[in-house]
Amino acid sequence: MNNDVLALKYRPKFFKEVTGQDLIIETLINSIKLNKLHNAYLFSGTRGMGKTTIARLFAKSLLCESGISEQPCGTCSSCNEIDNTNHLDLIEIDAASRTKVEDTRNLMDNVQYAPSSSRFKIYLIDEVHMLSTKSFNALLKTIEEPPAHVKFLLATTEPEKLPDTILSRCLHFKLISASETTIISHLENILNQENIKYDVSALETIARNANGSIRDSLSITEQCISFCNGNIIEDKINSLLGNIGYDTINKIITAIADKDAESLVNFIESIDDNIKLDRILDQITNVFFKLTLLNINKNLLDKEHLNYDFFTSIYQEFTKEDLQLFYQIAISSKKDFRYAADKKDYLIMILLRMIIFSENDNNSIENDKITTEKTNNLKSTNDNNDDVVNIKNNWYETVNELSLNGLALHLANHSVFDVNNNNYTLKINQQKKDIYPQSCIDDLVKIIQKHYSITSDIAIEYDNNLDTPTIVEKKLSESETSNRYDKVKDNPDINKIQKMFDANIDKDSIKKIID
Ligand SMILES: [Zn+2]
Repeated sequence: MNNDVLALKYRPKFFKEVTGQDLIIETLINSIKLNKLHNAYLFSGTRGMGKTTIARLFAKSLLCESGISEQPCGTCSSCNEIDNTNHLDLIEIDAASRTKVEDTRNLMDNVQYAPSSSRFKIYLIDEVHMLSTKSFNALLKTIEEPPAHVKFLLATTEPEKLPDTILSRCLHFKLISASETTIISHLENILNQENIKYDVSALETIARNANGSIRDSLSITEQCISFCNGNIIEDKINSLLGNIGYDTINKIITAIADKDAESLVNFIESIDDNIKLDRILDQITNVFFKLTLLNINKNLLDKEHLNYDFFTSIYQEFTKEDLQLFYQIAISSKKDFRYAADKKDYLIMILLRMIIFSENDNNSIENDKITTEKTNNLKSTNDNNDDVVNIKNNWYETVNELSLNGLALHLANHSVFDVNNNNYTLKINQQKKDIYPQSCIDDLVKIIQKHYSITSDIAIEYDNNLDTPTIVEKKLSESETSNRYDKVKDNPDINKIQKMFDANIDKDSIKKIID
Protein backbone atom coordinates (compact mmCIF):
# COMPACT_ATOMS: atom_id res chain seq x y z
CA MET A 1 0.00 0.00 0.00
CA ASN A 2 1.35 3.42 -0.89
CA ASN A 3 1.12 5.65 2.17
CA ASP A 4 2.66 8.71 0.51
CA VAL A 5 -0.34 9.92 -1.51
CA LEU A 6 -1.35 12.60 1.01
CA ALA A 7 2.27 13.56 1.71
CA LEU A 8 2.88 14.09 -2.01
CA LYS A 9 -0.42 15.83 -2.67
CA TYR A 10 0.03 18.27 0.21
CA ARG A 11 3.78 18.78 -0.09
CA PRO A 12 4.30 22.54 0.32
CA LYS A 13 4.82 24.40 -2.97
CA PHE A 14 5.57 27.74 -1.30
CA PHE A 15 7.26 28.84 1.94
CA LYS A 16 3.94 29.94 3.43
CA GLU A 17 2.63 26.36 3.20
CA VAL A 18 5.43 24.90 5.36
CA THR A 19 4.18 23.81 8.79
CA GLY A 20 6.04 24.00 12.09
CA GLN A 21 9.33 25.62 10.96
CA ASP A 22 8.34 29.29 11.19
CA LEU A 23 11.69 30.66 12.36
CA ILE A 24 13.70 28.97 9.61
CA ILE A 25 11.25 30.02 6.91
CA GLU A 26 11.29 33.62 8.16
CA THR A 27 15.11 33.69 8.11
CA LEU A 28 15.26 32.28 4.58
CA ILE A 29 12.64 34.75 3.33
CA ASN A 30 14.56 37.66 4.87
CA SER A 31 17.86 36.56 3.36
CA ILE A 32 16.20 36.46 -0.08
CA LYS A 33 14.50 39.84 0.43
CA LEU A 34 17.78 41.45 1.55
CA ASN A 35 19.68 39.58 -1.18
CA LYS A 36 22.12 38.20 1.39
CA LEU A 37 22.81 34.80 -0.11
CA HIS A 38 25.42 32.35 1.20
CA ASN A 39 27.32 29.78 -0.81
CA ALA A 40 26.29 26.83 1.35
CA TYR A 41 23.28 26.03 3.52
CA LEU A 42 22.89 23.08 5.87
CA PHE A 43 19.49 21.77 6.97
CA SER A 44 19.57 19.27 9.85
CA GLY A 45 16.86 17.41 11.74
CA THR A 46 15.38 13.94 12.20
CA ARG A 47 13.72 12.15 9.29
CA GLY A 48 10.44 13.47 7.97
CA MET A 49 10.93 17.04 9.24
CA GLY A 50 10.99 18.57 5.76
CA LYS A 51 14.70 19.24 5.20
CA THR A 52 14.72 18.50 1.46
CA THR A 53 11.29 20.10 1.01
CA ILE A 54 12.55 23.40 2.44
CA ALA A 55 15.79 23.13 0.43
CA ARG A 56 13.78 22.64 -2.79
CA LEU A 57 11.55 25.63 -1.99
CA PHE A 58 14.66 27.72 -1.43
CA ALA A 59 16.05 26.54 -4.78
CA LYS A 60 12.72 27.45 -6.39
CA SER A 61 13.03 31.00 -5.03
CA LEU A 62 16.55 31.31 -6.43
CA LEU A 63 15.77 29.86 -9.87
CA CYS A 64 12.32 31.30 -10.71
CA GLU A 65 12.33 32.85 -14.17
CA SER A 66 10.50 35.93 -12.85
CA GLY A 67 13.53 36.75 -10.70
CA ILE A 68 14.90 35.80 -7.29
CA SER A 69 11.95 36.09 -4.93
CA GLU A 70 10.65 34.73 -1.63
CA GLN A 71 7.40 34.27 -3.58
CA PRO A 72 8.37 32.47 -6.80
CA CYS A 73 5.73 32.63 -9.56
CA GLY A 74 4.93 28.91 -9.40
CA THR A 75 3.98 28.86 -13.08
CA CYS A 76 7.20 29.32 -15.07
CA SER A 77 8.98 26.27 -16.47
CA SER A 78 11.69 26.52 -13.78
CA CYS A 79 9.11 26.45 -10.95
CA ASN A 80 7.27 23.56 -12.61
CA GLU A 81 10.44 21.57 -13.17
CA ILE A 82 11.38 21.92 -9.51
CA ASP A 83 7.89 20.78 -8.46
CA ASN A 84 8.36 17.75 -10.73
CA THR A 85 11.97 17.23 -9.50
CA ASN A 86 13.42 17.34 -13.01
CA HIS A 87 15.14 20.75 -13.10
CA LEU A 88 18.49 20.48 -14.89
CA ASP A 89 20.22 23.03 -12.65
CA LEU A 90 18.97 21.61 -9.36
CA ILE A 91 21.23 18.61 -9.01
CA GLU A 92 19.96 16.29 -6.27
CA ILE A 93 22.39 13.79 -4.81
CA ASP A 94 21.61 11.14 -2.22
CA ALA A 95 24.93 10.72 -0.44
CA ALA A 96 23.65 7.51 1.16
CA SER A 97 23.94 5.88 -2.26
CA ARG A 98 26.88 7.85 -3.64
CA THR A 99 29.81 7.95 -1.25
CA LYS A 100 32.72 7.08 -3.47
CA VAL A 101 35.29 9.82 -3.86
CA GLU A 102 35.36 9.46 -7.67
CA ASP A 103 31.66 10.25 -7.81
CA THR A 104 32.11 13.37 -5.72
CA ARG A 105 35.13 14.37 -7.83
CA ASN A 106 33.11 13.98 -11.02
CA LEU A 107 30.45 16.19 -9.53
CA MET A 108 32.95 18.79 -8.41
CA ASP A 109 34.63 18.74 -11.82
CA ASN A 110 31.32 19.79 -13.35
CA VAL A 111 30.83 22.60 -10.84
CA GLN A 112 32.88 25.04 -12.91
CA TYR A 113 30.56 24.76 -15.95
CA ALA A 114 27.85 27.36 -16.14
CA PRO A 115 24.23 26.42 -15.42
CA SER A 116 22.33 25.08 -18.41
CA SER A 117 19.55 27.65 -18.40
CA SER A 118 19.29 29.35 -14.98
CA ARG A 119 21.15 31.96 -12.99
CA PHE A 120 22.44 29.36 -10.48
CA LYS A 121 23.53 25.76 -10.46
CA ILE A 122 22.30 24.31 -7.16
CA TYR A 123 23.60 21.12 -5.58
CA LEU A 124 21.20 19.53 -3.08
CA ILE A 125 23.12 16.80 -1.22
CA ASP A 126 20.88 14.70 1.04
CA GLU A 127 22.30 12.66 3.95
CA VAL A 128 25.58 14.52 3.38
CA HIS A 129 27.13 12.96 6.53
CA MET A 130 27.38 9.67 4.59
CA LEU A 131 30.14 11.00 2.31
CA SER A 132 33.61 9.51 2.83
CA THR A 133 36.45 11.65 4.21
CA LYS A 134 37.96 11.96 0.75
CA SER A 135 34.62 13.00 -0.70
CA PHE A 136 34.32 15.61 2.04
CA ASN A 137 37.73 16.97 1.09
CA ALA A 138 36.70 17.22 -2.54
CA LEU A 139 33.49 18.98 -1.48
CA LEU A 140 35.33 21.29 0.91
CA LYS A 141 37.65 22.59 -1.81
CA THR A 142 34.64 23.64 -3.86
CA ILE A 143 32.66 25.08 -0.95
CA GLU A 144 35.67 27.17 0.09
CA GLU A 145 35.82 28.99 -3.23
CA PRO A 146 32.78 28.16 -5.31
CA PRO A 147 32.16 29.80 -8.68
CA ALA A 148 29.62 32.64 -8.32
CA HIS A 149 26.91 30.61 -10.06
CA VAL A 150 27.01 27.68 -7.59
CA LYS A 151 25.02 27.15 -4.37
CA PHE A 152 25.17 24.15 -2.05
CA LEU A 153 22.15 22.96 -0.07
CA LEU A 154 23.14 20.17 2.31
CA ALA A 155 20.72 18.07 4.35
CA THR A 156 21.51 15.62 7.13
CA THR A 157 20.00 13.74 10.04
CA GLU A 158 23.40 13.66 11.78
CA PRO A 159 25.15 17.06 11.58
CA GLU A 160 27.59 16.02 14.34
CA LYS A 161 29.18 13.63 11.84
CA LEU A 162 30.16 16.48 9.51
CA PRO A 163 33.75 17.76 9.64
CA ASP A 164 34.10 21.17 11.32
CA THR A 165 35.65 22.50 8.13
CA ILE A 166 32.36 21.90 6.29
CA LEU A 167 30.14 23.02 9.19
CA SER A 168 31.97 26.32 9.55
CA ARG A 169 31.28 27.20 5.91
CA CYS A 170 27.54 26.54 6.03
CA LEU A 171 24.63 28.59 7.24
CA HIS A 172 23.15 25.93 9.53
CA PHE A 173 19.37 25.58 10.02
CA LYS A 174 18.23 23.11 12.66
CA LEU A 175 14.71 21.92 11.95
CA ILE A 176 12.56 21.24 14.99
CA SER A 177 9.94 18.57 15.67
CA ALA A 178 6.43 19.80 15.02
CA SER A 179 4.36 20.01 18.22
CA GLU A 180 1.37 17.70 18.54
CA THR A 181 -0.94 20.72 18.33
CA THR A 182 0.67 21.84 15.06
CA ILE A 183 0.34 18.36 13.59
CA ILE A 184 -3.31 18.12 14.64
CA SER A 185 -4.30 21.41 13.03
CA HIS A 186 -2.38 20.46 9.88
CA LEU A 187 -4.25 17.14 9.69
CA GLU A 188 -7.60 18.85 10.37
CA ASN A 189 -6.93 21.21 7.50
CA ILE A 190 -6.12 18.38 5.07
CA LEU A 191 -8.96 16.07 6.16
CA ASN A 192 -11.46 18.92 5.79
CA GLN A 193 -10.23 19.53 2.25
CA GLU A 194 -10.47 15.79 1.54
CA ASN A 195 -13.98 15.65 3.04
CA ILE A 196 -13.02 12.88 5.43
CA LYS A 197 -14.74 12.58 8.82
CA TYR A 198 -12.62 12.31 11.97
CA ASP A 199 -12.79 12.79 15.71
CA VAL A 200 -10.19 15.04 17.29
CA SER A 201 -9.00 12.44 19.81
CA ALA A 202 -8.15 10.21 16.85
CA LEU A 203 -5.95 12.97 15.43
CA GLU A 204 -4.34 13.36 18.85
CA THR A 205 -3.37 9.70 18.74
CA ILE A 206 -1.96 10.04 15.23
CA ALA A 207 0.01 13.14 16.27
CA ARG A 208 1.45 11.29 19.27
CA ASN A 209 2.61 8.42 17.09
CA ALA A 210 4.17 10.69 14.47
CA ASN A 211 6.92 11.79 16.90
CA GLY A 212 7.02 15.35 15.60
CA SER A 213 7.17 14.44 11.90
CA ILE A 214 4.53 15.92 9.61
CA ARG A 215 5.39 13.37 6.93
CA ASP A 216 4.92 10.43 9.32
CA SER A 217 1.62 11.90 10.53
CA LEU A 218 0.37 11.98 6.93
CA SER A 219 1.49 8.45 6.23
CA ILE A 220 -0.26 7.17 9.40
CA THR A 221 -3.37 9.14 8.42
CA GLU A 222 -3.24 7.52 4.99
CA GLN A 223 -3.29 4.04 6.60
CA CYS A 224 -6.08 5.10 8.94
CA ILE A 225 -8.28 6.34 6.09
CA SER A 226 -8.33 2.94 4.43
CA PHE A 227 -8.49 1.03 7.75
CA CYS A 228 -11.34 3.16 9.16
CA ASN A 229 -13.27 3.17 5.90
CA GLY A 230 -13.24 6.94 5.57
CA ASN A 231 -14.28 7.77 9.15
CA ILE A 232 -11.28 8.22 11.42
CA ILE A 233 -12.17 7.31 15.01
CA GLU A 234 -9.83 6.78 17.94
CA ASP A 235 -10.78 3.22 18.86
CA LYS A 236 -10.00 1.94 15.38
CA ILE A 237 -6.74 3.85 15.24
CA ASN A 238 -5.61 2.47 18.56
CA SER A 239 -6.26 -1.05 17.38
CA LEU A 240 -4.49 -0.28 14.07
CA LEU A 241 -1.45 1.10 15.88
CA GLY A 242 -1.62 -1.36 18.80
CA ASN A 243 -1.84 1.50 21.32
CA ILE A 244 -3.80 2.22 24.42
CA GLY A 245 -5.04 5.75 25.08
CA TYR A 246 -3.69 8.18 27.68
CA ASP A 247 -6.70 7.33 29.87
CA THR A 248 -5.34 3.88 30.63
CA ILE A 249 -1.70 5.00 30.74
CA ASN A 250 -2.65 7.68 33.28
CA LYS A 251 -4.43 5.08 35.42
CA ILE A 252 -1.31 2.90 35.39
CA ILE A 253 0.94 5.82 36.37
CA THR A 254 -1.47 6.80 39.16
CA ALA A 255 -1.47 3.23 40.49
CA ILE A 256 2.35 3.25 40.56
CA ALA A 257 2.32 6.60 42.41
CA ASP A 258 -0.21 5.23 44.93
CA LYS A 259 1.72 1.93 45.19
CA ASP A 260 -1.62 0.31 44.44
CA ALA A 261 -0.48 -3.08 43.17
CA GLU A 262 -3.98 -4.54 43.01
CA SER A 263 -5.38 -1.86 40.68
CA LEU A 264 -2.25 -2.07 38.59
CA VAL A 265 -2.66 -5.80 38.05
CA ASN A 266 -6.37 -5.33 37.24
CA PHE A 267 -5.66 -2.59 34.64
CA ILE A 268 -3.12 -4.69 32.81
CA GLU A 269 -5.27 -7.84 32.96
CA SER A 270 -8.18 -5.91 31.41
CA ILE A 271 -6.17 -4.65 28.42
CA ASP A 272 -7.38 -5.91 25.06
CA ASP A 273 -5.38 -8.83 23.68
CA ASN A 274 -4.51 -7.15 20.38
CA ILE A 275 -2.70 -4.27 22.11
CA LYS A 276 1.08 -4.36 21.76
CA LEU A 277 2.25 -4.57 25.36
CA ASP A 278 5.80 -3.46 24.64
CA ARG A 279 4.29 -0.27 23.16
CA ILE A 280 2.62 0.34 26.53
CA LEU A 281 6.03 0.05 28.15
CA ASP A 282 7.34 2.63 25.64
CA GLN A 283 4.43 4.93 26.47
CA ILE A 284 5.08 4.56 30.22
CA THR A 285 8.82 5.16 29.73
CA ASN A 286 7.96 8.33 27.87
CA VAL A 287 5.70 9.49 30.71
CA PHE A 288 8.52 9.00 33.25
CA PHE A 289 10.79 11.05 31.00
CA LYS A 290 8.21 13.85 30.86
CA LEU A 291 7.69 13.74 34.64
CA THR A 292 11.46 13.94 35.15
CA LEU A 293 11.56 17.10 33.03
CA LEU A 294 8.76 18.60 35.12
CA ASN A 295 10.54 17.60 38.31
CA ILE A 296 13.67 19.46 37.20
CA ASN A 297 11.93 22.55 35.85
CA LYS A 298 8.33 23.11 34.86
CA ASN A 299 9.38 25.08 31.78
CA LEU A 300 11.14 22.07 30.26
CA LEU A 301 7.84 20.46 29.28
CA ASP A 302 5.81 21.65 26.30
CA LYS A 303 2.65 23.22 27.77
CA GLU A 304 0.79 22.22 24.62
CA HIS A 305 1.34 18.54 25.40
CA LEU A 306 -2.06 16.85 25.33
CA ASN A 307 -1.45 15.16 28.68
CA TYR A 308 0.07 18.27 30.32
CA ASP A 309 -2.69 18.63 32.93
CA PHE A 310 -2.26 15.07 34.14
CA PHE A 311 1.54 15.40 34.21
CA THR A 312 1.42 18.57 36.32
CA SER A 313 -1.13 17.02 38.66
CA ILE A 314 1.01 13.98 39.45
CA TYR A 315 4.72 14.74 39.04
CA GLN A 316 5.21 15.77 42.67
CA GLU A 317 4.07 12.32 43.80
CA PHE A 318 7.42 10.97 42.58
CA THR A 319 10.92 11.75 43.82
CA LYS A 320 13.59 12.51 41.21
CA GLU A 321 15.40 9.33 42.26
CA ASP A 322 12.30 7.18 41.81
CA LEU A 323 11.67 8.61 38.34
CA GLN A 324 15.27 7.84 37.33
CA LEU A 325 14.90 4.34 38.69
CA PHE A 326 11.53 3.66 37.05
CA TYR A 327 12.83 4.92 33.72
CA GLN A 328 15.82 2.61 34.05
CA ILE A 329 13.62 -0.34 35.03
CA ALA A 330 11.39 0.22 32.00
CA ILE A 331 14.30 0.62 29.57
CA SER A 332 16.30 -2.36 30.82
CA SER A 333 13.25 -4.64 31.03
CA LYS A 334 12.33 -3.86 27.42
CA LYS A 335 15.32 -5.91 26.23
CA ASP A 336 13.87 -9.11 27.69
CA PHE A 337 10.31 -8.52 26.49
CA ARG A 338 10.60 -10.85 23.52
CA TYR A 339 11.78 -13.73 25.75
CA ALA A 340 8.72 -13.57 27.99
CA ALA A 341 6.28 -16.40 27.26
CA ASP A 342 3.37 -14.44 28.75
CA LYS A 343 3.81 -10.78 27.85
CA LYS A 344 1.03 -9.60 30.15
CA ASP A 345 2.58 -11.31 33.18
CA TYR A 346 5.93 -9.84 32.25
CA LEU A 347 4.52 -6.30 31.96
CA ILE A 348 2.86 -6.72 35.37
CA MET A 349 6.16 -7.89 36.87
CA ILE A 350 7.99 -4.87 35.46
CA LEU A 351 5.44 -2.43 36.87
CA LEU A 352 5.34 -4.20 40.24
CA ARG A 353 9.12 -3.89 40.36
CA MET A 354 8.64 -0.12 40.32
CA ILE A 355 6.27 -0.26 43.29
CA ILE A 356 8.52 -2.62 45.25
CA PHE A 357 11.68 -0.64 44.54
CA SER A 358 10.22 2.60 45.76
CA GLU A 359 9.25 1.06 49.10
CA ASN A 360 11.37 1.44 52.24
CA ASP A 361 13.59 -1.37 53.35
CA ASN A 362 12.69 -0.98 57.04
CA ASN A 363 11.28 -4.50 57.32
CA SER A 364 14.57 -6.14 56.66
CA ILE A 365 16.33 -4.60 59.63
CA GLU A 366 13.53 -4.36 62.13
CA ASN A 367 14.46 -7.60 63.85
CA ASP A 368 18.18 -7.08 63.67
CA LYS A 369 20.13 -5.67 66.55
CA ILE A 370 21.50 -2.26 65.79
CA THR A 371 25.20 -2.44 65.22
CA THR A 372 27.76 0.15 64.29
CA GLU A 373 30.01 -2.26 62.47
CA LYS A 374 30.54 -1.67 58.80
CA THR A 375 30.84 -4.74 56.60
CA ASN A 376 34.32 -3.68 55.70
CA ASN A 377 35.38 -4.08 59.33
CA LEU A 378 34.05 -7.61 59.57
CA LYS A 379 36.79 -10.20 59.35
CA SER A 380 36.10 -13.63 58.02
CA THR A 381 37.93 -16.62 59.45
CA ASN A 382 37.34 -18.79 56.38
CA ASP A 383 39.52 -16.78 54.07
CA ASN A 384 43.16 -17.54 53.75
CA ASN A 385 43.99 -15.43 50.75
CA ASP A 386 44.73 -11.71 51.17
CA ASP A 387 43.13 -10.67 47.88
CA VAL A 388 40.07 -12.68 48.68
CA VAL A 389 39.76 -11.08 52.12
CA ASN A 390 40.19 -7.74 50.43
CA ILE A 391 37.39 -8.43 47.96
CA LYS A 392 35.02 -9.65 50.63
CA ASN A 393 35.58 -6.87 53.10
CA ASN A 394 35.39 -3.98 50.71
CA TRP A 395 32.07 -4.58 48.99
CA TYR A 396 30.46 -1.61 50.74
CA GLU A 397 33.18 0.70 49.37
CA THR A 398 33.55 -1.14 46.07
CA VAL A 399 29.94 -0.40 45.14
CA ASN A 400 30.82 3.30 45.18
CA GLU A 401 33.85 2.69 42.97
CA LEU A 402 31.98 0.72 40.31
CA SER A 403 30.29 3.86 38.87
CA LEU A 404 26.97 2.06 38.71
CA ASN A 405 23.67 3.76 38.16
CA GLY A 406 19.97 2.98 37.95
CA LEU A 407 18.92 -0.61 38.38
CA ALA A 408 22.45 -2.08 38.56
CA LEU A 409 23.27 0.27 41.46
CA HIS A 410 20.04 -0.72 43.17
CA LEU A 411 20.92 -4.40 42.79
CA ALA A 412 24.47 -3.87 44.10
CA ASN A 413 23.10 -2.04 47.13
CA HIS A 414 20.83 -4.98 47.91
CA SER A 415 23.54 -7.62 47.44
CA VAL A 416 26.80 -8.77 48.94
CA PHE A 417 29.64 -10.10 46.85
CA ASP A 418 31.07 -13.05 48.73
CA VAL A 419 34.30 -15.01 48.30
CA ASN A 420 34.99 -18.35 49.93
CA ASN A 421 38.04 -20.44 48.91
CA ASN A 422 38.03 -18.89 45.45
CA ASN A 423 34.31 -19.58 45.02
CA TYR A 424 32.59 -16.37 44.05
CA THR A 425 28.96 -15.69 44.90
CA LEU A 426 26.72 -12.69 44.43
CA LYS A 427 24.24 -12.96 47.29
CA ILE A 428 21.06 -11.00 46.69
CA ASN A 429 18.59 -10.00 49.38
CA GLN A 430 15.89 -12.71 49.39
CA GLN A 431 13.16 -10.06 49.71
CA LYS A 432 14.23 -8.63 46.36
CA LYS A 433 14.04 -11.98 44.58
CA ASP A 434 12.23 -11.88 41.21
CA ILE A 435 12.35 -8.13 40.86
CA TYR A 436 15.65 -7.76 39.01
CA PRO A 437 15.61 -8.74 35.33
CA GLN A 438 18.17 -11.42 34.47
CA SER A 439 19.93 -8.98 32.13
CA CYS A 440 20.53 -6.62 35.07
CA ILE A 441 22.06 -9.42 37.19
CA ASP A 442 24.20 -10.53 34.22
CA ASP A 443 25.41 -6.96 33.73
CA LEU A 444 26.44 -6.58 37.39
CA VAL A 445 28.25 -9.95 37.31
CA LYS A 446 30.24 -8.82 34.25
CA ILE A 447 31.11 -5.52 35.93
CA ILE A 448 32.33 -7.34 39.07
CA GLN A 449 34.38 -9.82 37.00
CA LYS A 450 36.02 -6.95 35.16
CA HIS A 451 36.64 -4.92 38.33
CA TYR A 452 38.40 -7.77 40.16
CA SER A 453 39.83 -9.42 37.01
CA ILE A 454 37.96 -12.63 37.84
CA THR A 455 37.75 -15.18 35.04
CA SER A 456 35.71 -17.87 36.82
CA ASP A 457 31.93 -17.90 37.15
CA ILE A 458 30.08 -16.03 39.86
CA ALA A 459 27.20 -17.96 41.42
CA ILE A 460 23.93 -16.24 42.32
CA GLU A 461 22.27 -16.95 45.67
CA TYR A 462 19.41 -15.41 47.61
CA ASP A 463 19.75 -14.85 51.33
CA ASN A 464 17.59 -13.23 53.98
CA ASN A 465 20.36 -12.27 56.32
CA LEU A 466 22.85 -10.10 54.47
CA ASP A 467 24.71 -6.96 55.44
CA THR A 468 24.03 -5.30 52.10
CA PRO A 469 25.22 -1.71 51.59
CA THR A 470 21.63 -0.47 52.02
CA ILE A 471 21.25 -2.27 55.35
CA VAL A 472 24.68 -1.15 56.55
CA GLU A 473 23.73 2.45 55.73
CA LYS A 474 20.48 2.11 57.66
CA LYS A 475 22.23 0.63 60.67
CA LEU A 476 24.83 3.38 60.62
CA SER A 477 22.23 6.08 60.46
CA GLU A 478 20.19 4.44 63.24
CA SER A 479 23.23 4.23 65.46
CA GLU A 480 24.17 7.83 64.73
CA THR A 481 20.68 8.89 65.77
CA SER A 482 21.09 6.90 69.01
CA ASN A 483 24.47 8.47 69.73
CA ARG A 484 23.09 11.94 69.13
CA TYR A 485 20.14 11.20 71.39
CA ASP A 486 22.50 10.08 74.17
CA LYS A 487 24.40 13.36 73.87
CA VAL A 488 21.28 15.51 73.68
CA LYS A 489 19.41 13.92 76.59
CA ASP A 490 22.28 14.66 79.01
CA ASN A 491 22.86 18.19 77.79
CA PRO A 492 22.17 20.58 80.75
CA ASP A 493 20.78 23.37 78.50
CA ILE A 494 18.35 20.98 76.87
CA ASN A 495 17.37 19.60 80.27
CA LYS A 496 16.54 23.15 81.39
CA ILE A 497 14.28 23.68 78.37
CA GLN A 498 12.65 20.30 78.98
CA LYS A 499 11.82 21.26 82.55
CA MET A 500 10.59 24.71 81.55
CA PHE A 501 8.08 23.31 79.01
CA ASP A 502 7.55 19.90 80.59
CA ALA A 503 8.65 18.46 77.23
CA ASN A 504 9.93 15.16 75.86
CA ILE A 505 12.66 14.74 73.26
CA ASP A 506 11.54 13.40 69.88
CA LYS A 507 14.44 11.09 69.05
CA ASP A 508 13.89 11.07 65.27
CA SER A 509 13.80 14.85 65.05
CA ILE A 510 17.43 15.23 66.15
CA LYS A 511 19.48 16.23 63.12
CA LYS A 512 23.13 17.08 62.68
CA ILE A 513 23.34 20.59 61.24
CA ILE A 514 27.07 21.39 61.51
CA ASP A 515 30.06 19.10 61.11
ZN1 LIG B 1 8.69 30.77 -11.44
